[in-house]
Amino acid sequence: MTSTFDDLLEANRRYSQTHEGGFDGIARAGVLMVTCMDSRIDPLAVIGLQPGDAKILRNPGGRVTDQVLVAIVLGVSLLKVERVVVMEHTRCAMATSTEADVKEKIGAKSGTDASWMTIGVIEDQESTVRADVNRVRSHPLVPDSVSVGGFIYDVDSGLMTPVD
Ligand SMILES: [Zn+2]
Repeated sequence: MTSTFDDLLEANRRYSQTHEGGFDGIARAGVLMVTCMDSRIDPLAVIGLQPGDAKILRNPGGRVTDQVLVAIVLGVSLLKVERVVVMEHTRCAMATSTEADVKEKIGAKSGTDASWMTIGVIEDQESTVRADVNRVRSHPLVPDSVSVGGFIYDVDSGLMTPVD
């Protein structure tokens, strides 16, 4: 039987031969990062961490959504998260298109009307990062001892810049 996922399953069998399981699900470096789904970003490598070190939450744009807030509360309450990194990036499709443009492209590609769906494009990345950082800081279940920082990552240079 062949399947669309055969190559991935084959790669997984190879992976499992050298995989060392056994560690728990805490964030060993105490870090949680919220960032974009963009495949140019290698979140752990960007901040010098390894698997097991951090919680990584990704979505279009790298936004602090309601579900991301749930994950952050779980992280800081139960999984040893002490620092939260909110990181958007340059050349993000979510920040370089209009809501109408994205819906039109999806509609054209799918052949189905997409105008009803909320995409949530970003008009101003710096102010969006600030607002998202404040959303985390002001959450009643995120203690003041947790540090929350906002950043913009340059996909060309690999450098992340703090957003004050
Ligand atoms: Zn992006």
